[in-house]
Amino acid sequence: MSNTVIPVKLGEQYEGTVVDVLYTGVGVIMVDDYPIHLENAFEGEKIRFEVTQVNRKFGRAKVVEIEVASPDRVDSGKDYLLEAGIAPYVNLAYDAQLRLKQQQVQKLYKAVGIDVDVAPTIGMDNPTHYRNKTVVPVKYVDGKLTTGFIKKRTPGDIVPLDDYFVNDEKIDQIIGIVRDILDAHKVSVFDDDTQEGEMRYIMVRRGYYSHEVMVVLVTQTPTLTDEDAIATDIAAAVAGIKSIILNHNPRSLHVLTSGDNRTLWGADAIHDKLLDIDFEIGPNSFYQVNPQTTEVLYDMAATKGELKESDTVIDAYSGIGTIGLTVADRVDKVLGVEVIERAVIDAQKNVANNNVQNAEFVTADAPEQMQKWKDGGLKPDVIFVDPPRRGLTEELLDAVADMNPDRFVYVSCNPETMARDARYLIDKGFRIKGDIQPLDQFPQTAHVEAVAVFEPIEK
Ligand code: SAH
Repeated sequence: MSNTVIPVKLGEQYEGTVVDVLYTGVGVIMVDDYPIHLENAFEGEKIRFEVTQVNRKFGRAKVVEIEVASPDRVDSGKDYLLEAGIAPYVNLAYDAQLRLKQQQVQKLYKAVGIDVDVAPTIGMDNPTHYRNKTVVPVKYVDGKLTTGFIKKRTPGDIVPLDDYFVNDEKIDQIIGIVRDILDAHKVSVFDDDTQEGEMRYIMVRRGYYSHEVMVVLVTQTPTLTDEDAIATDIAAAVAGIKSIILNHNPRSLHVLTSGDNRTLWGADAIHDKLLDIDFEIGPNSFYQVNPQTTEVLYDMAATKGELKESDTVIDAYSGIGTIGLTVADRVDKVLGVEVIERAVIDAQKNVANNNVQNAEFVTADAPEQMQKWKDGGLKPDVIFVDPPRRGLTEELLDAVADMNPDRFVYVSCNPETMARDARYLIDKGFRIKGDIQPLDQFPQTAHVEAVAVFEPIEK
């Protein structure tokens, strides 16, 4: 694109029709050939908008008025969740959210020239209050300690909130209890401007099956004044409490927790189950936040992988070993690779706690480890990958192609990089087996999870 003329002006209002909703959750209105991105805007809607940002490729705008609404729009009465960035699709009917996610995956595959069926998105029966973990900031507002969310546009302010809509309702209640205890002890709150004060965030994790609760007090300072009395009060007030941790995190406001934990009361970790496997969850463990759909996801990935008792299975990007451990009893051997050492230590603990004899996890960069396994002559039958949003590297995909597994199961949280990687793998002699299955791990948000299975054309 040379000499692009930007057809809109900053701060001005225009009118247009939403032609698409990208997988990032933003609606698109075209002004001539120039795309405008807006939140809370759904396909077919006629919208008056104000331009808030322009660059060469696209502009951003905010909705001024919805002149013609989509039949799929609902009035949730919870627009504060949009401002908080918690639930961008809260005003879109749930069946429309599921359809949208299916269409987005379909479009992204089409865009890389892959003609494949995308199954209807698997959703939740009750797509609210599903999260098993949350971290919230605390601040005094009019002399009262308040929990809520930080406004996206004015990061200094905190807006009080008691129902986060996507959290386990018990977690929301616990946040309130802990906040009031901290208030009663008149804790000081860290102020970014003066760099003084102690408390920063409250984090709560609660096991979906176990109902075990962990409360983490995230502080700017290595100790919290009255910490023992505070912990005693929390322990007495919170049902199911198993662990109270002080997380010392004196770093930038953008990192919520550090690796520096001290147990104030109870155990260092809690436990929960996923497909009947016990997982130990510490304050820093990466653990899927929607346990209900995660079980569906792993079960489906395993079914699509058509596991056999004689199979050697690789679990790449294994985190704390969730995929590998939940399939271990169906196969001969599981080899996992994960780059974060603490997660691998958790995975090894989970191997021992569940008496699993046939799974090993190593700390390494997945592409490098895959090359190493390949050079060592390993011939896996099934490879699972569950990479972060940036997807896979060509190095990893080359190793997969060289190892020529019977089945390659790709679990993805970003359908765009997934489609890119699918194109690469197909060009290397693989084909997609069956359809692509999207699954709604994060209802009310723009996140799309999908599973695809690939097999080599020549075995
Ligand atoms: N399968 C796990 C984790 C998936 S999240 C689960 O469902 O719980 C993706 C994981 O990839 C994270 O644990 C992250 O630490 C890991 N990761 C990121 N980059 C990596 C790399 N280069 N090599 C190996 N693992 C990596």
